[in-house]
Amino acid sequence: MKSAIVNIGVLVGGDGLPSARDMKCIIMENGIISYIGSQDIDLSSCNVVVDADGATVIPGLIDSHVHIVLGDYTPRQKTVDFLESYVHGGITRTITASEVHAPGRPKDPAGVKALALMAQRCFQHFRPGGMTIHGGSVILEPGLTEKDFVELAEQGVWLAKAGFGAFPKPRDAAEIVRYAQKHGFKVMCHTGGASIPGSSPVTADDLLEMLPDISGHVNGGPTAMTDSDLEKVIHETAIALQIVQAGNLRAAIRTIQLAKEAQQFQRVLIASDTPTGTGMMPLGVMKSIVELSALSKTPAEQMIAAATGHVGRIYGIDAGLIRVGRPADVLVIDAPLGGSAAEALDAIENGDLPAIAACFTNGILRYMNSRNTPPPRRENIKVIHERLKMWI
Ligand SMILES: [Zn+2]
Repeated sequence: MKSAIVNIGVLVGGDGLPSARDMKCIIMENGIISYIGSQDIDLSSCNVVVDADGATVIPGLIDSHVHIVLGDYTPRQKTVDFLESYVHGGITRTITASEVHAPGRPKDPAGVKALALMAQRCFQHFRPGGMTIHGGSVILEPGLTEKDFVELAEQGVWLAKAGFGAFPKPRDAAEIVRYAQKHGFKVMCHTGGASIPGSSPVTADDLLEMLPDISGHVNGGPTAMTDSDLEKVIHETAIALQIVQAGNLRAAIRTIQLAKEAQQFQRVLIASDTPTGTGMMPLGVMKSIVELSALSKTPAEQMIAAATGHVGRIYGIDAGLIRVGRPADVLVIDAPLGGSAAEALDAIENGDLPAIAACFTNGILRYMNSRNTPPPRRENIKVIHERLKMWI
């Protein structure tokens, strides 16, 4: 399978650097970006070519806080096909925030290991709407030993979730967090007020003792920690700062301001923390990019990086950048029809959701014109060459 996008106006790399205006063409082959550059190149062997009509290309968004459980179903909102719908929100890859919403979830060491392994296996080859899903995050519970992490790592589980679990105090999980990290796990910790019955509030001092890799919903999920605690986490640790749509917006903006002042913006991640009580939100990540760019006056390229390149770097996965050799998860976005901006990045900085005009995952065109976003301002973003009976 070989696909291309031509007539690209603006290319956003996902690394937070200013966008490029001279890269007109991207070629994707067998799921990987194989070429970026001039469109003065032979495209006759491509199966699909999309004309971007001068619109903007960005990496597919990575939502690092999604509550998957099993299949494309969320028990929390009793909704099916939500992941496929998230692809229509530009989210081409998700990272589980642990399968904590499994009804009657197990709490013993054998049970939490089995749950994580089951989710890792089930989502390994399941691609709803073309999405890549990193499932299987072991919920840290008392009684887990170092050997458990050795066994899980051997089986391909590499994510762990702290801040739940039957510890008398959240920080009592610190020793188990060390075991997990020693064996290559990325540990995300619940942060702020309690979210659901059975979870506990997690403060800055808890985080300072546990030192997870990622402060999950640093702006609250949904309840934010205190302002002074937020400052402490930003200034006294190197923990990644995951801002979520389903949290406290004031705390989110404050996180960005403090991180920028401390020259720590590279630690900021944008995620949705859905489906939760807030609902299922296909546009959750895009909405946060837009709201935070507009309200904190941060360039759109940098906010997009927080939901793409930053996530790849912090989680140690090769996704999130438009670079040769990287996974071909790519969006064509445009200013929405009828808005005050002419270009997608200006629309974002103005507070308007962009149109997603085309979405590729794994190098395959999944749709033209998202059913979840407004239509694009440009009328001629279209497939100009297609040699397939079926796209998928
Ligand atoms: Zn969550």
